[in-house]
Parts: sequence; C-alpha cells; structure tokens
Amino acid sequence: MLKTEIREILLPSRELGWVLEPEAKRLLGLAGLETTRFRWAHQLEEALQFAEEIGYPVVAKVVSPEALHKSDVDGVAVGIADDKTLSTVFERYSAIKGFSGVLVEEMASGTELIVGAKIDYQFGPVVLLGIGGTGVEIYQDTTLRMAPLNRQDVDYMINGLKAGQLLKGYRGSEPVNLQALGSLIMTFSALVMEIENWIESIDLNPVMCNAKRCVVADARIMVRDSFA
Ligand code: ADP
Ligand code: MG
Repeated sequence: MLKTEIREILLPSRELGWVLEPEAKRLLGLAGLETTRFRWAHQLEEALQFAEEIGYPVVAKVVSPEALHKSDVDGVAVGIADDKTLSTVFERYSAIKGFSGVLVEEMASGTELIVGAKIDYQFGPVVLLGIGGTGVEIYQDTTLRMAPLNRQDVDYMINGLKAGQLLKGYRGSEPVNLQALGSLIMTFSALVMEIENWIESIDLNPVMCNAKRCVVADARIMVRDSFA
C-alpha cells in the first residue's frame, strides 16, 4: 500500500528530523505530485550519465544531512551546460560537510511558488500558498486554509494572492497553468491529511509553474521524532 511505502521513507528520517531531498521527491512522486526528473548520483559517472539521458542544461544540488538549506552552503547550481562544469561542481560538493551524493535534475522554468503545510497544534493541518523563491520574504504574499481543502478553497487561495495577476500573465509575462496548480494543491492537501501524524511540516519551495505545468523543484519535509 502507498501509505506503507511513504511511511518507510519517513521512518529512517526521524533521527535527523527531516528527509533528504531525493527521498522527499520520491515520496511526493508516490503521492502523485510531479517533481523535476532527478537522479541521486553517488559517483560522478552516474551524474554524467543521467545528464546525458535528460540533456543539458541540468541542475546539481548537494545531498547532505548537514545541509538543510542547500543554498547556504553554496550547494545549488542551476543551468549547468556541459560535462566539464558538472564534473567541477560534483568535485566541489564532495568537500561539503556530510556529503552524501549529488542530486542531478532537469531545469524547470516559470513562476516560483511556495506550497506548504504545517500541523498546527490546535487546527491540525494548515495549507499555505504563496509566491516562492526570494519573493517569499519580500512580498509576504501568502494565503492559508485548513486542510482538507476542497476545490473552492483552492480557488479562493489562488485568487486571494495579491500576486494573482502575476499568475494570470501580467503585462505579457507567461501565465501559470491554474488547472495544474489547483490539482497540485488538492493532491498535496490529500497527502498532508494522510501523513499528519508523522510530520511537523512540508514546504514545496519552489513549485515552478508555467503555462504547461507545475512541478516541484524542492521539498523539505520535517519529520516528528515519534510516530503516532
Ligand atoms: P534550498 O535548499 O536552498 O532551498 P532549492 O532546491 O530550493 O535549494 O534551490 C534554490 C533555488 O534554485 C530555487 O529557489 C530555484 O530558484 C532554483 N532551482 C532549484 N531547483 C531548480 C530546478 N530544477 N530548475 C530551475 N531552478 C531551480
Ligand atoms: Mg528551496
């Protein structure tokens, strides 16, 4: 059963307190959420092979239990154009504390959103939608709803953002596929309800949305130390 598989990913993460990104993405995939195509490469050869498979440019991120925020340790490189650059980046990451391989993945493009959830002591799971990336702090543009969400909640959330115009294609910017965004949030809400007793929070930041699709490019799942 799916829930059993998801539990098996969360269980070994209890001690660390959070799930390494490749495992978090595998969990999201099981739950029916689209993530960037990725490979968790432990050797340079594997990284190069996957990059050839999906085609350059690619993204490479450090995997380390000591790097909850990868950018803080200079552990995210986007737009890698060739084998040589990927090799250099791989080597550089190898020296980062706790190095446990490299996540190689496809480049995504579009508007960066954050879709998050935390398990509130009083209200239970609460879902958040906002403008992601660095915009999170600058615009403070987010909406919250208690889970489980229905379609109407999701529409309210999307329309409740000040940046709503941005999503609909402001001054010639590419609009976001609102259908895809809506389904993603619904699927996310269902997942959060399933695993609320095992987690403290989940942040999908960023979710990258363009006119075609919405894809999860980063995921942080904080795990409880004991499972109810
Ligand atoms: P952090 O652990 O620092 O949050 P992220 O995985 O979110 O690391 O990467 C940092 C930033 O790099 C993202 O906010 C996004 O702008 C960019 N980024 C990450 N993954 C991708 C990707 N697959 N395609 C395009 N840009 C990406
Ligand atoms: Mg992130």
